Amino acid sequence: MLKKNDIVEVVIEDLSHQGSGIAKVDGFVFFVENALPTERITMRVLKLNKKIGFGKVEDYLEKSPHRNENLDLAYLRTGIADFGHLAYEEQLLFKAKQVKDNLYKTAGIKAVELLPTIGMEQPYAYRNKAQIPVRRVNGQLETGFFRKNSHDLLPISDFYIQDKEIDKLILFVRNLLRRFQVSPYNEADQSGLIKNLVVRRGHYSGQMMLVFVTSRPKVFRVEQMVQLITEAFPQVVSIMQNVNDQNSNAIFSKDFKVLYGQDYITDSILGNDYMISAQSFYQVNTVMAEKLYQTAIDFSDLSADDVVIDAYSGIGTIGLSFAKKVKKVYGVEVIEAAVKDARKNAERNGIRNAEFLVGSAEAAMEKWSKEGIKPSVILVDPPRKGLTESFIKASAAMAPKKITYVSCNPATMARDIKHYQELGYNLIKAQPVDLFPHTHHVECIALIQRVKS
Ligand code: SAH
Repeated sequence: MLKKNDIVEVVIEDLSHQGSGIAKVDGFVFFVENALPTERITMRVLKLNKKIGFGKVEDYLEKSPHRNENLDLAYLRTGIADFGHLAYEEQLLFKAKQVKDNLYKTAGIKAVELLPTIGMEQPYAYRNKAQIPVRRVNGQLETGFFRKNSHDLLPISDFYIQDKEIDKLILFVRNLLRRFQVSPYNEADQSGLIKNLVVRRGHYSGQMMLVFVTSRPKVFRVEQMVQLITEAFPQVVSIMQNVNDQNSNAIFSKDFKVLYGQDYITDSILGNDYMISAQSFYQVNTVMAEKLYQTAIDFSDLSADDVVIDAYSGIGTIGLSFAKKVKKVYGVEVIEAAVKDARKNAERNGIRNAEFLVGSAEAAMEKWSKEGIKPSVILVDPPRKGLTESFIKASAAMAPKKITYVSCNPATMARDIKHYQELGYNLIKAQPVDLFPHTHHVECIALIQRVKS
């Protein structure tokens, strides 16, 4: 019988959706970090539950030909790049396989056109947003990332998948905070001031926003820091402060204040211009978001008489990308600030055939049904938990020809497609798009069509 700290030789058989190697020994399924399929390793047993165990590589006896040997282990330990040890081409295959497996296991779908994952040509430095914790490590203020499942900061200066201009700004601000002796936050006794630095950068505009997340309102010599930052980085058009006195995992409170410039940046996607504020959802990989939205446009096969619902519309990016090709777009989004942005974004781009509603997607469907609105296409882009049963029923009841499903979680997407199948719809094709290279996140688009009666 296996016990903690035993060392056994195993062969890794599979990869979990979070990027751990999977090995089976003695009736246990083991999850092993930094171990790839086909690798033969000696594994130390770290922990045993009923049927599941966790192990650690002691030695590699045979390595995978698909292993990326150049990855700094900090990226694996923090989860910044939890698939970074696997060759990029293999990551793309793995993501398509996850979509395929979920569709089969959950919805029983075997025969469907599953297109190969659209990957990035340069899959590095793509993130346009950074949320960087600030803590004291060995007596010094540091910026970096927490080790997985902990709040133990690992100092990092090159964030690998993050825009290099953002990395530079973070380092500059870190040095300023050290120089001005501003105290980093300490979770143990909730002392210290600076909790996080949040940075956004427009991929095309180059504009940057910096947010200081602090535990208290008063920041010593903040005007001087602001001046030094904007002198060194003229692209910074917005510096904000968010005071968050709660010791929770949410980064922002509602308490924002402008320290410099405006409270948003702008950027463009597929030729439209967008205002992006600190809290709004905005796809973190702009180049691939354009490919994602273009795929949604192509799948929806839009024409000038189409009436489109954009459910879970955020700041309106998908609906507004559709608007010039169709008769009318109705968007709905639960966060009021995002809807305000969506309306301004419509105006910015001279789009008059799109309207956005604040509220839950479910309530909006009810309202639009009552008003007799008959969409030909319903586009959905829900968060990870997917759609609700009531949304699925209400949307099918509107009888659109097509439902274009943009998903960041293939498991809930497959569950929802199963529902649509029971309501007279079929999955036609699915296309993964790699918005998050080197991480376990899978983004996918599915075209669901009404079965003709
Ligand atoms: N389509 C947008 C945003 C997608 S993210 C884009 O591509 O940028 C999902 C969005 O759904 C978030 O903005 C979130 O605030 C919103 N949301 C979450 N639950 C919702 C609900 N029940 N009803 C409407 N919107 C919701």
